[in-house]
Amino acid sequence: PIRVRFAPSPTGPLHIGGVRTALFNYLFAKKNNGTFFLRIEDTDQNRFVAGAEEYILEALNWLGIAPDETVGKNEKFGPYRQSERKELYQQYANQLINSGNAYYAFDTAEALDAHRKQHEEQGKTFIYNHHNREKLDTSLVISKEETERRIAAGEEYVIRFKTPVNETLHLHDIIRGDVKFETNLLDDKVLFKSDGMPTYHLANIVDDHLMETSHVIRGEEWLPSMPLHVLLYRAFGWEAPEFAHLPLILKPIGNGKLSKRDGDKMGFPVFPLEWKTEEGVSSGYREKGFFPEAVVNFLALLGWNDGTEKELFSLEELVQNFDLNRVHKAGAKFDPEKNKWFNHQYLIQQPDADLAKAFSPILTEKGITIEENKLITIVSLIKERAHFVSEFWELSDYFFEAPSSYDEKASKNWKEETPALMQNLIAVLDGIQDFTASTIETVVKEWMTANEIGMGKIMQPFRLSLVGALKGPHLFDIAELIGKQETIQRIQKAIA
Ligand code: GLU
Repeated sequence: PIRVRFAPSPTGPLHIGGVRTALFNYLFAKKNNGTFFLRIEDTDQNRFVAGAEEYILEALNWLGIAPDETVGKNEKFGPYRQSERKELYQQYANQLINSGNAYYAFDTAEALDAHRKQHEEQGKTFIYNHHNREKLDTSLVISKEETERRIAAGEEYVIRFKTPVNETLHLHDIIRGDVKFETNLLDDKVLFKSDGMPTYHLANIVDDHLMETSHVIRGEEWLPSMPLHVLLYRAFGWEAPEFAHLPLILKPIGNGKLSKRDGDKMGFPVFPLEWKTEEGVSSGYREKGFFPEAVVNFLALLGWNDGTEKELFSLEELVQNFDLNRVHKAGAKFDPEKNKWFNHQYLIQQPDADLAKAFSPILTEKGITIEENKLITIVSLIKERAHFVSEFWELSDYFFEAPSSYDEKASKNWKEETPALMQNLIAVLDGIQDFTASTIETVVKEWMTANEIGMGKIMQPFRLSLVGALKGPHLFDIAELIGKQETIQRIQKAIA
């Protein structure tokens, strides 16, 4: 069976790259009738951040990609929090020691520094592996009795992996194809520390095995760990899962990985939800007014497409069409403008009544009350121009209050004869009983034709009077919505 996992370390809010990893795991699981689970990799207690675990789950829930199994939910292979699985890792570390695949190392930080310096002086880099094993303070060079004595005496130690020597590993990655690694270039990574905690590598492999992970889908930054992980599976005698390393998400401008600073500089969030610390608030897609469906859609296209030009996908469509073999190797450029475009696409699909409801609180705050039907019409007239509901007010303020200033450039159309013409327009409007857009339009146009008055002479000053600028939807719609009295008052104000 297909079982994939998202395995974040709760060291802070989930970055958009992490969300994309979670999403691709989710899509792959659902596409293949598999299981998507969330495992919390919290063995590094120094980097633990309160609230991060809750944040991660809340973000996945908001996006509609909740895990099938996680802490407190269908814990088939639980616990799903690594800090609660400590004993297990100890046991597996011992297993590797006993089989000769790992060893104890007692080197102090100072001793390691000295080794490093010595190498530097000779123009070499120090690698903690077979190149230096006989010079290091490990159970490989001291007797078993001595090792046991030192451990019993409470000396600090780590357990390191004994990387095999002189091997070329030919591995396969679903996205990258065949990848080659030389074991001689790998260092003997720490697997376990004397504080009783495993490192990421050991815990990750043990859990992926015990939780029956079929595919490891994760960010490209983990590709260098792949040889170690495969060697660990081999050392345990376990079958390794398949691997797929997702392409990096790149900065909008320039080169390199997208960072929080890019977002701060260019004014877009890199986090799904807002994150507050003592240092400040980092904005989130949710709070910025993005629809979760839009976020899912644009993230899905960061490194994947279905082979056509199609860009708009519902979550169900993504599940139907997702294919790891179509994920690109090359990094995916993050485009904040495109993200807004996606949100616009989802915004215009929403029912006007829902958008009106979302807009209401903004109006209430301004002390404005309006009939629901009218508001729905207003929303239908302006939504084409909006990316977010939060932009509705500045796109529609003239429906609710008379303009307090007039756009200067547009005022150039205001000629000497304009006030008199507007006076006449007022009289025409005043005579209309059925003040609806179509009637107003018919009557005003008939009047212009009958008096041989050019369109531009009336329509532009008329619009300027109602809106304050030469923008907005159909003018007669605006007139109907604000009503006869208000329409006339605004023209009077403009010519005063
Ligand atoms: N805990 C690792 C992380 O924070 C998991 C990497 C993996 O998926 O193997 O990303």
